[in-house]
Amino acid sequence: MPLLARRFAKLKSVLDQRISDLTVLLEEVEKPHNLSAILRTCDAVGIIDAHAVSKMNKLITFNSTSQGSQKWIKLHEHKNIEEAILKIKKRGFQIYGTSLKGASIDYRQCDFTQPTAFVLGAEKWGLSENAMNLIDNSIHIPMRGMVQSLNVSVAASTLLFEAIRQREIAGLIPSKGEGLDPTTYKNKLFEWAYPEVAKWCKEKGRDYPELNSNGEILETLPRTIKVKC
Ligand code: SAM
Repeated sequence: MPLLARRFAKLKSVLDQRISDLTVLLEEVEKPHNLSAILRTCDAVGIIDAHAVSKMNKLITFNSTSQGSQKWIKLHEHKNIEEAILKIKKRGFQIYGTSLKGASIDYRQCDFTQPTAFVLGAEKWGLSENAMNLIDNSIHIPMRGMVQSLNVSVAASTLLFEAIRQREIAGLIPSKGEGLDPTTYKNKLFEWAYPEVAKWCKEKGRDYPELNSNGEILETLPRTIKVKC
């Protein structure tokens, strides 16, 4: 199989398993290695979208820990935690805030097979009071050691893999692209295969060109655009 066809088949097989109703919302998680590790886990479990609110709208940065996963996960940045939670709630997600304080539920007692968003807090302070007031449930991963909490990326990973485990048992893991609506699937496939062309199309305000079954673009594009898959 030529390289383009092989690469295209790999992109399709990953998209076939992507899940749109599981996500994370990161509240002021600032350290690039934590953000990077979380996005890498999101890619590993098959998430397509993640959400973040940064401290005073500081630029979100990644490091090599991400292994480039920010290319495969769309990180939606929100102005503040209220706006972020309300937007995700409106889309029918159950909002699970993570907290080690108060009456928080052991995560193993929760059902994550329905649309689920995990809200994770800042390295030092955890979730804000505003976030705690808006979540549907407060959950925690039980701790038995001397240290009070886990690293935020480890907590994200534990929760996401538990959600995937539950969905696997319930037969809810997509395998043929059914985890995404057809338009999202088609657009993502194009963006992943041809990021430069996708960027150009967005600038021009035009639709993406059609692709054939091998992933070749069925249109003659201006020579100045990089079309490498
Ligand atoms: N002192 C902070 C607190 O009281 O929340 C600790 C923050 S912790 C280092 C950063 C984030 O990791 C938390 O906001 C939470 O999202 C997540 N986290 C850490 N340990 C956790 C646990 N055992 N259960 C659930 N989430 C946890």
